[in-house]
Amino acid sequence: MGYRVQHNNAIGPYKGGVRFHASVNLSILKFLAFEQTFKNSLTTLPMGGGKGGSDFSPRGKSNSEVMRFVQAFMLELWRHIGPETDVPAGDIGVGGREVGFMFGMYKKLAQEFTGTFTGKGREFGGSLIRPEATGFGALYFVHQMLETHGIDIKDKTVAISGFGNVAWGAATKATELGAKVVTISGPDGYIYDPEGIDVDLLKEVKEVKRARLTEYAAARPSAQYHEKKNADDHGVWSVKCDLALPCATQNELNLDDAKMLVANGVISVTEGANMPTTLEATKYLQENGVLFVGGKAANAGGVATSALEMSQNSERLSWTFEEVDGKLKGIMETIYANISDAAKRYNATVGGNDDYVAGANIAGFEKVVNAMLAQGVC
Ligand code: NAP
Repeated sequence: MGYRVQHNNAIGPYKGGVRFHASVNLSILKFLAFEQTFKNSLTTLPMGGGKGGSDFSPRGKSNSEVMRFVQAFMLELWRHIGPETDVPAGDIGVGGREVGFMFGMYKKLAQEFTGTFTGKGREFGGSLIRPEATGFGALYFVHQMLETHGIDIKDKTVAISGFGNVAWGAATKATELGAKVVTISGPDGYIYDPEGIDVDLLKEVKEVKRARLTEYAAARPSAQYHEKKNADDHGVWSVKCDLALPCATQNELNLDDAKMLVANGVISVTEGANMPTTLEATKYLQENGVLFVGGKAANAGGVATSALEMSQNSERLSWTFEEVDGKLKGIMETIYANISDAAKRYNATVGGNDDYVAGANIAGFEKVVNAMLAQGVC
């Protein structure tokens, strides 16, 4: 089954990823599209919100099986999207290969070469830094937040979950900033690497070989692979860390995991994935003084860089690495300033410490609702 949810276009064309995973259903895509609207608003760039996908799983499929599925999917989707209408991108199970196949089929059916997708290959309009932008952006955000609280990110121990695009980008930027990333994970287990995750090896195993997590462990003597024992297994969240970044999927960090992180002295939990932390866990982390930032703000760097890709496509130019990276960093710092300001306004009313979840909801919502009111009821 395939879907596209177009949630809101008050501030720009619908924009949001396409997910291919066995767990995909309409309910999950509706929540993701809803979140996307307010996330896109937070980026300060002109994008509405949408999300799409299918319960098709590319895992274990050949390139030509994936291509044939994508072409069948596009036979219906192409008539609902366009550069001024709806601009899809990647998400879980949809990386550069899948976006390339979607773009090729769209181009054939619509008979146009436009920036209708983001996350494209560099040869046909893709932007530098788009593949790693979500993880990079999350770390720019964490860096800014810690600095504001007088905490140096250097030498901090970082636990990351996931083994995909976001996890890789986050691990790469955290390492560049001087922190030590000690975990990555998949649905069946996790890696603990006390020497620090080798991000080049991670990229090769994930992107080039498209292999499993165990292959990373096999190639790295310092890495220990811990297979998931049962549903109550705390996985990466049982590892002592200063900074935690759930970067895999929704509802992967529950109340018991949060208790374990707090007991181990975690300073901040920053969502690289979309809603990986359950509501009970979020509340517990906030009540225990952890700097908690939801994905709406923290992972907005991916879609922000997609907007930068759209700008480059419109002006038919390719910006340098430094230009894109500088803009991404600036956007994440602005998002931090805006949600921090909204959190202060919120906490002035209800009391308590700055609540970045409320701050992000308020800052994202205000812009969308003002645009909707200005445009009248239609
Ligand atoms: P991805 O490249 O497909 O990676 C997701 C990874 O997480 C896969 O390796 C997957 O393993 C693993 N995983 C799935 N369920 C897991 C679980 N329960 N525990 C541990 N690992 C698990 O996807 P992605 O693009 O990195 O997306 C990750 C999250 O970030 C999603 O919530 C997505 O919506 C969000 N996000 C992505 C972007 C972006 O630019 N890509 C932007 C904003 C937010 P298997 O492949 O073995 O299932």
